[in-house]
Amino acid sequence: MLKIGGIDVYYGDVQALWNVSLQVNKGEIVTLVGANGAGKTTTVKTISGLLKAARGSIEFEGERIDDKPAHEMASRGIAHVPEGRRLFPLMTVKENLEMGAMISEAKKHRGETLEQVYKILPRLKEREVQMAETLSGGEQQMLAIGRGIMARPRLLLLDEPSLGLAPILVQQIFDTIRHIHEEGVTLLLIEQNVRRALSIADRAYVLENGRIVLNGTGQELLESDHVKRAYLGL
Ligand code: ATP
Repeated sequence: MLKIGGIDVYYGDVQALWNVSLQVNKGEIVTLVGANGAGKTTTVKTISGLLKAARGSIEFEGERIDDKPAHEMASRGIAHVPEGRRLFPLMTVKENLEMGAMISEAKKHRGETLEQVYKILPRLKEREVQMAETLSGGEQQMLAIGRGIMARPRLLLLDEPSLGLAPILVQQIFDTIRHIHEEGVTLLLIEQNVRRALSIADRAYVLENGRIVLNGTGQELLESDHVKRAYLGL
């Protein structure tokens, strides 16, 4: 479904990604894990067209997308839930969700998708008329994910959904991710929470200093000596 082939990405003269290649097959949860500053956000922003690769290619469903503008991604079936949530603080929960369904295909099914989001995330239904800024951190993260689902994506890019959340909420976020996947959405999950991300993923890539250093099934990487030493404190 998604194929990244050897991308190099720069911020001005500073290179952030070196020859990064990765693949997401339809129906998979793939995770890209790594420490702070490894280049995870840079990778996801390049997929969604917010940054341009200096070299390499990105294909989605067999078509090159690396030369396409970011605003086309939603209509192609890619939704990006950015790190830091980016909600509309003075709009209600429901209004924020509706903003996720702006493309025409999603708009047509808005009521139906909203019910689906409320089924997966019942807390949002309870908070429907509340301003987004009054939600707790975990609820805001749920809302950001819910807004991503409203676009009815075939591929959902989640950038560090568990960042800054208390352990109980982290658990809820991972349960939600599993649930979304069961509904038929393919997921690329960017995470610093290496243990949980590898546990949920079909396949995984480890990014260090802008380079992919390991890949395999989630289980293989959980058992890798390097991963255990560098990320799991074992
Ligand atoms: P984090 O988990 O901290 O967000 P990350 O793995 O997502 O980390 P990136 O945000 O992709 O990492 O950053 C990768 C590298 O690119 C870092 O060295 C960072 O300092 C650099 N970088 C990121 N954004 C910019 C920018 N706007 N200008 C210059 N350098 C940047």
